[in-house]
Amino acid sequence: MTFDRRTFIAASAATAAAPLLPACASPGTSNAAATDAAPYPAFIGKSTQTLLPRGKAPRIVICGGGWGGLTTAANLRQLAPQAEVVLLDRNPVFFSSPLSNMWLVNMVDGELLTHDYLRVANKLGYKFFQAEVQQIDRDRRIVTTSVGTLDYDWLVLAPGIRYNYESWFGNDRQAADAARTRFPSAYASNSEFLTLKRALHNFKGGELVMNLPPPPQRCPPSPYERACLIAWHFKTNKIKGHITILDHKPSIMPIGQGYKLAFEELYKDFITYVPNAHVQEVDPFNQRIRTAAGDHKFDHAILMAPHKAGDLAWLAGTVSKTSDGWADMDEVTMQIKGDERAYVIGDAIAAVSTLPFRYYPKSAHIANRLGRIVAYQISEKLAGRAPERRLPDNLCYMVVNGTPGQALNVQFDYDFDAQGRVRQVQRDYNERTPALFKDDFRWADFMFEEMFAGIAPPVLPYPAYRA
Ligand SMILES: Cc1cc2nc3c(=O)[nH]c(=O)nc-3n(C[C@H](O)[C@H](O)[C@H](O)COP(=O)(O)OP(=O)(O)OC[C@H]3O[C@@H](n4cnc5c(N)ncnc54)[C@H](O)[C@@H]3O)c2cc1C
Repeated sequence: MTFDRRTFIAASAATAAAPLLPACASPGTSNAAATDAAPYPAFIGKSTQTLLPRGKAPRIVICGGGWGGLTTAANLRQLAPQAEVVLLDRNPVFFSSPLSNMWLVNMVDGELLTHDYLRVANKLGYKFFQAEVQQIDRDRRIVTTSVGTLDYDWLVLAPGIRYNYESWFGNDRQAADAARTRFPSAYASNSEFLTLKRALHNFKGGELVMNLPPPPQRCPPSPYERACLIAWHFKTNKIKGHITILDHKPSIMPIGQGYKLAFEELYKDFITYVPNAHVQEVDPFNQRIRTAAGDHKFDHAILMAPHKAGDLAWLAGTVSKTSDGWADMDEVTMQIKGDERAYVIGDAIAAVSTLPFRYYPKSAHIANRLGRIVAYQISEKLAGRAPERRLPDNLCYMVVNGTPGQALNVQFDYDFDAQGRVRQVQRDYNERTPALFKDDFRWADFMFEEMFAGIAPPVLPYPAYRA
């Protein structure tokens, strides 16, 4: 480990101060009790201590170790091996949302979705800390976490989404907590997936309601996939359950025709699709939801509050008055507006175009592509070169049947129009096929190889995998 003079002095001062720390043992401890306290062990993390001594290498701190953050870290190790890369996530392990709908109904094992942060960090040569990021000071370039502070030269935020329960419940935390804990949507937090899975497997029959929030939302086709797979679970296990999909949108989007046929041909007695169901009131205590398309009482529900940029994007001051709850950034480089050393990627980002599609789909595939783009941006800048403008692509497989395994697919390509705006071409594959089902696993394999084995191509575009 290399120390420069300034950090060495700071580190020595911190060590010298350590024996004095019992006086401020923990919040709420009285001074009288604290005098009896044992000396504070140096490695119990405190947000006031330096987490990692500073070496000479430029330091890149990535906040959020989901799809975007892990891809960025893996690609940075390849493109900028001279840099120190630090990845921070609050979770001890990575759990994949893609493929999780199959896991909910026991079509795949949890091991396929779960990955070990420390193993990948050691293997690829970056540092990982399991830590809650609590504060980001972009003026001083300091990240404060639950276990210490880190200064940085470059910052990448990949915080995912938050649920905007405020839009349903105002500041009524009790109602928001009841919705979140009793009827979680399992779209953002790992423990919600477990709660939902348990609820589904304890469900003996009755009415299951799931709502889809207004766009943009995380992975727009995946709630329909989830409805199909839950219906498949009811059908194969002879559970007298019925699913009502309350969709904010006027029709199923994307892959509308493919899903419509799956609902009608495979799950006629199990799924009812209701369009234009704008949520007006949610009552998690009496198990009711009122929408513009009617009122529904439920036995269980998957209640999905509208999505916005993850809390971290707000803590870092990246959400502007005009970015509609998403992180404001340059549409191509992903650089946070007004900050040449900070980037934001993945689901948290704001609109990328003034054309009607406006947002990239909030998908793992896009988060992966933006992770690559930002790793490239930073590595070029570190090398003193001007990065070129690069755009992502998107690809999503959606499973609609378990016996036989069948899936649909949607693809997106991007380029610039004559005015320099990002343009989108969408292709829906509405025919459900076993080949697409197989390709879903192949896609996940490619992604996991890149994120967890560092097998990433050094340049974009990726030799694009196409159905
Ligand atoms: C059911 C379901 C199915 C899906 N299927 C697909 C699919 O088939 N294909 C596809 O492309 N996409 C799919 N997606 C979408 C995909 O999961 C997201 O688009 C993707 O995870 C976005 O990546 P991200 O890096 O932006 O956010 P995330 O992957 O959510 O990562 C954010 C990370 O930040 C961490 N974090 C947040 N705040 C803090 C903090 N304060 N301190 C420390 N850590 C923090 C979180 O713990 C998390 O690990 C699906 C999503 C769901 C829910």
